[in-house]
Amino acid sequence: MKIGTCKAVAGKITSGSLTVAVHQGKILKIPVIIAKGEESGKTVFISAGMHGDEINGIEVIRNFMQRINPAKLHGAIIFLPILNPWGFKKKSRYIPFDKKDLNRCFNVKGNSVSYKIARTLMKEVVKKCDFGIDLHDGRTNLLLPHTRIFKKDKCGYLKELSHAFGSEIILQREGEKGMMAVASFNLYKIPVLTVEVGGALILREDFTDQVLSGLKNILIYGGLLNGVLDLPVRQFFLDDRLGYISPIQGILHIEVELGDAVNKEQLIARIHNPITDREIKIKSKNPGVVFSVRRDAIINRGESILSILHFKLEKGRSELVPMQAKMLMNMTKPEEIITRPTILLDNILSLLGLSYKVVGVSLKESLKRLDEYFTLAKNKH
Ligand SMILES: [Zn+2]
Repeated sequence: MKIGTCKAVAGKITSGSLTVAVHQGKILKIPVIIAKGEESGKTVFISAGMHGDEINGIEVIRNFMQRINPAKLHGAIIFLPILNPWGFKKKSRYIPFDKKDLNRCFNVKGNSVSYKIARTLMKEVVKKCDFGIDLHDGRTNLLLPHTRIFKKDKCGYLKELSHAFGSEIILQREGEKGMMAVASFNLYKIPVLTVEVGGALILREDFTDQVLSGLKNILIYGGLLNGVLDLPVRQFFLDDRLGYISPIQGILHIEVELGDAVNKEQLIARIHNPITDREIKIKSKNPGVVFSVRRDAIINRGESILSILHFKLEKGRSELVPMQAKMLMNMTKPEEIITRPTILLDNILSLLGLSYKVVGVSLKESLKRLDEYFTLAKNKH
């Protein structure tokens, strides 16, 4: 296997570059690193920096590559640590030459340079892989680390990947035209799991550690590494985010932090309009855990302040149920997975003074439960 100038060598990590486009006589290259195992197996790509200001994924890849021992690998990993080095230099999300969002240019007709880059990546990398992982950061909001899948994922493979990755939160969304994950699925039926690490322009080392563990999990799941999956006791599939929207323009004071447990009626934010001197207080509608918070302190009417994964208590406080989300329980004494406590759930339980029992199910059963949550098409990948 060869990607650009990077030739895979069994048992070794090799590097090179891939020419993705030529723009006004300038050759545009991105770095490529391949870790190739001595044993055969699946080929996977892990990419980051598609949006030039999203730096956590770049750091995740750097750390992950240092931990990979190619002698123990079955198959190959293609690392694309920075897909948009030109945007990175300008601290910008976009490809600076045509000001486009590269993640809206895949499998879309167009002649400017971003479309060319997208076509090259699909042909030279994505098409050659069994699956991929694309690392991102939130744009206007800081987010808890999570994976994203499409509601339209008919074969269910993305859902399995997100489960195996082991993020506590999995967000289901519609997916937009031109996204790499949407295009790779539509064109080649190759699943690409989108991972949100944190927030653009800010490094979160606590989050990158969680994502490193997820990458290891997914390689174990794909048979590239030996080992057991390390999953949280419970995972939450969010149907939507419950966003709190600002009713006025002003200066935003957020009174909680990402991952905090909040009680019903707790003050979560204040917005002060310096022109009218009006202040609005925002309170939590239910108990929950803060899932995302706005980065900028200036806010317009209708913009998102933060979002909370809410829970409600059922049947005389005996059971805590997530709202707008489905909860998947993982097993306790498995052979194929080990479980760790769920940070999110532990936070909210400690706030409410509750505890919970872990219910054990096998990985197979877990996946079957997942099937119940989603409508599955017959043509399995
Ligand atoms: Zn992004």
